[in-house]
Amino acid sequence: MDHPSILLFDTFSGEKRPLAFIEPDHCRMYCCGPTVYDESHLGHARAAIAPDVLVRLLRHLNVRVTYVRNITDIDDKIVNRAQAEGVGPEVIASRYAERYAEDMERLGMLVPSEEPRVTAHLGEIREMIEALISKGLAYAAEGSVYFRVASFPEYGRLSKRRPEDLMVGARVEPDARKENPADFALWKAIEPGEPGFDSPWGYGRPGWHIECSAMSTCLLGPTFDVHAGGMDLIFPHHENEIAQAQGVHGTSTYAKHWMHNGFVNFAGEKMSKSFGNFFSIREVLHLYAAEALRFFLLSIHYRSGLNLDTEVRCPACKMLLLPEAQDQNVCSHCGAHLQAEELRRQVRFPGLEEADDRVAYVYETIRKARTFLDAHPGEAELNGVVLGPPQGLLSSFVDAMRDDLNTSQALSVLSEPFKEINRLLHTKKGGDAHARYRVVGQFVEDMRSVGAILGLFLEDPDVYLERRRNQKAARIGLDVDRVNELVAQRWACRTAQDWAQADAIRDELTSLQVTLLDGPTGSDWTL
Ligand SMILES: [Zn+2]
Ligand SMILES: [Zn+2]
Repeated sequence: MDHPSILLFDTFSGEKRPLAFIEPDHCRMYCCGPTVYDESHLGHARAAIAPDVLVRLLRHLNVRVTYVRNITDIDDKIVNRAQAEGVGPEVIASRYAERYAEDMERLGMLVPSEEPRVTAHLGEIREMIEALISKGLAYAAEGSVYFRVASFPEYGRLSKRRPEDLMVGARVEPDARKENPADFALWKAIEPGEPGFDSPWGYGRPGWHIECSAMSTCLLGPTFDVHAGGMDLIFPHHENEIAQAQGVHGTSTYAKHWMHNGFVNFAGEKMSKSFGNFFSIREVLHLYAAEALRFFLLSIHYRSGLNLDTEVRCPACKMLLLPEAQDQNVCSHCGAHLQAEELRRQVRFPGLEEADDRVAYVYETIRKARTFLDAHPGEAELNGVVLGPPQGLLSSFVDAMRDDLNTSQALSVLSEPFKEINRLLHTKKGGDAHARYRVVGQFVEDMRSVGAILGLFLEDPDVYLERRRNQKAARIGLDVDRVNELVAQRWACRTAQDWAQADAIRDELTSLQVTLLDGPTGSDWTL
């Protein structure tokens, strides 16, 4: 099937290139997944969302996608945590793999076609190491095995590092077992009694880099279409994956396209030391709708750095605390004693507040548009026209996405049509009713496709908006049950024609920032 091409930036060639597939209309993609030893944080969300949106766009363009994202389930960090907790490494790995999967699901990430785990691929890993040794590309030394970087002339091409720079003064621990400081471990000898595996070279654990080469080869073949991951993985991880895979297969290409996403920065240096350097996805989703976070991640191009500003108020006087003041024990405004843990709970993210409002605006517009369509059942015969070929909104949106997944541009393409639709929905009279119905119907249809590509706006608007309102109320310290109770009491007073009491309750609600929405059979509320 013919489909318009996608331009995708390729780190290896350093330019945007049309995405072409080895097999027609089938994209094979590998993405480096998490090492599961702790809660996943926003960096994990960012690394998962760029490939996720690419898969969604490809499917929209009728390309079949085989999407592999691995799980590193054995590693020093996992072993350390397991020892600290007095459990086996498999307990830690399965706990955090499960929690990672839950976080990804909440964030609307597609489940990959395959999620290989290292411990299930030890056979392929050992075979690949043996083949590298027999080709002279690796050597065993005291129970460990190292890749001989000097034997792979193309080493450094992806990260644009010259081999001579790597050899001299490589920033690695001097190790007598290595022929050269730049050589890296394929198999690491460990002490008996530590969690590990037998091998022809001794008891040990695989190096991290060989795992991805072995699992990608096993599931996608020696050469595949797209390899994704964070920019921090370009060197040495991806450089090493190339050396291992091309070295063992004797191929000239490992991945045809290298796609790398930027970092998440917590307001740079301004971030208080008390909070550490990350927030877990769970902490953020406790405060904000998952779609707000997803929208926020998509509002910046995937290759750019993403700054997440934070804001902290004094728990006592509610005044904003300057970053310097957050590390002090005393509030400079009111003198209240400040505790780091309490302050961490007070952190808010202005960027997510804004994203939350924008997602709500989209849902409100879709809700109004659907209500409008439902109120015009006589126009149903126009369905054939309504469901006609996509035009305008959807095509400009897809064009922006096809240009290196420019999600920020694609989202801004939506803003003008949204204004128009809102204008149209507020116009009660005049104009051609049929034309209006057609435009609104097309809008609702287009937004279904836009939503499927972004992984956003796919929920029932009523359900979404109510949950979001309640979460926002909780965030500003409102007791949602109490508000619902007051709203019901006021309605009862109105029904009983006790106007004075009804007004008193309304004033109380207003002071809580609650706005009442009276309908024919009851009251709803918003913030
Ligand atoms: Zn990897
Ligand atoms: Zn204070």
